[in-house]
Amino acid sequence: MAQCKFCLTDTVDSWWGNWCERCHKLQRLISLFGGEKIMSILENVLIVNDEVQKQKIKDELKGELTTREYNLRKRKEDDA
Ligand SMILES: [Zn+2]
Repeated sequence: MAQCKFCLTDTVDSWWGNWCERCHKLQRLISLFGGEKIMSILENVLIVNDEVQKQKIKDELKGELTTREYNLRKRKEDDA
């Protein structure tokens, strides 16, 4: 079977078709909800903008620092 002409990864779902099963589902979703809405959801969920990325890094570092601080405090208490 041939490769899907949309995603270029999966094989087509029928010998006469051009798209795989998943891409046909995507097509149905696009016709149900509209291409703009589907695209905006994908962009909001999958494509992380710079500001969100910076915030995630900050949160990650904050968690790491809190854990280290706790471990240091605990070690001091254990030593005392
Ligand atoms: Zn496909």
